[in-house]
Amino acid sequence: MVAAFTYIAYPARVVFGSGRLLELGRELDQLGIKRALLLSTPEQAELAEKVRDQVGDKVGAIYSRATMHTPVDVTEDALGQLRALGCDGLVALGGGSTIGLGKALALRTDIPLVAIPTTYAGSEMTTILGETESGRKKTQRTPKVLPKVVIYDVNLTMSLPQGLSATSGINALAHAVEALYARDANPIITLMAEDGIAALGRSLPRIARDLDDQEARSDAQYGAWLCAACLGVVTMALHHKVCHVLGGSFNLPHSETHTVMLPHCTAYNTPARPEAMSRISRALGTEDAAGGLFELARSLGAPISLRQLGMPEAGINRAVGEIMQDQYWNPRPLDQDALRAMLTRAWLGEPPRAS
Ligand code: NAD
Repeated sequence: MVAAFTYIAYPARVVFGSGRLLELGRELDQLGIKRALLLSTPEQAELAEKVRDQVGDKVGAIYSRATMHTPVDVTEDALGQLRALGCDGLVALGGGSTIGLGKALALRTDIPLVAIPTTYAGSEMTTILGETESGRKKTQRTPKVLPKVVIYDVNLTMSLPQGLSATSGINALAHAVEALYARDANPIITLMAEDGIAALGRSLPRIARDLDDQEARSDAQYGAWLCAACLGVVTMALHHKVCHVLGGSFNLPHSETHTVMLPHCTAYNTPARPEAMSRISRALGTEDAAGGLFELARSLGAPISLRQLGMPEAGINRAVGEIMQDQYWNPRPLDQDALRAMLTRAWLGEPPRAS
């Protein structure tokens, strides 16, 4: 018998394919946007200029100060420019940081947002917005932040360096892994999750061998989209809570922290969800889900220990305490000793184990 489920489909227009950035002008026209504010990080300001040259005066101005973790003061600064220039649309060109700024502005103005992702992080497909104020990150879910259009053009991902390709890809995998054992899992998302894991599992090693492999990059971007759609619909469990705590309290880098923790959190949940684990191992072509994820990260040359990311060993106890507070639902109940053992293994860079 099919288990009971609730399926939510959020509206999204997804424009996927090589060269489809050229359709941005048409997409802006269809949304009735006459003067968009184009957002980027300082590192991608040059790319933003090129996109403005392509689109012409439908892009009114560029705001290139998007910052990791969406600080509220940056959002307010951008909001001032948006209003002063009378912009009627937003284009977020970049990774999760830039798309986060686009969402924060969309929330405050109800102005339509077009997202053009250049990493695999997946924020473009979710109703989630995390913002930082006075050093504290607050997360909310609201459909108001959803982009009206998402343009995935593989050409924009060709410049992703090997390190970020690997960690951003594993960050995407984490959404699909947790979707498979989510409390609100459903059959459509399960299909997307398994295919997303398979696409990233086969493409990331090819990208590591040849950064210019456009076919593999396209496959990875397809997988990242599927994984992002999972994150957008179902709720996440232990792994996302752990990464939230480690990022927030120890200022560890986002995608690298996901990369180190994913095998360990998967191992923790293995006894509770064997069917989800079989799907992960089938998608990766490995015997064991957690071991397969660990080997994938290692083969890509990605970080495999929290120590490498600069976390102090003495922080493990504090992290366990914070994970136990305001717990996320998880298929296996949270146990302080087991979590301490898991974080210690992750800190040392040891292979994952269930206990
Ligand atoms: P990022 O957006 O911070 O980008 C990292 C760096 O890579 C930046 O300097 C950026 O300019 C550069 N970069 C991006 N694309 C590039 C490319 N193609 N070539 C070369 N350089 C490139 O990193 P991220 O991992 O995409 O995003 C992380 C942030 O996104 C975190 O703050 C995280 O919380 C958030 N996030 C949010 C959601 C959500 O649903 N709200 C989902 C995933 C991630």
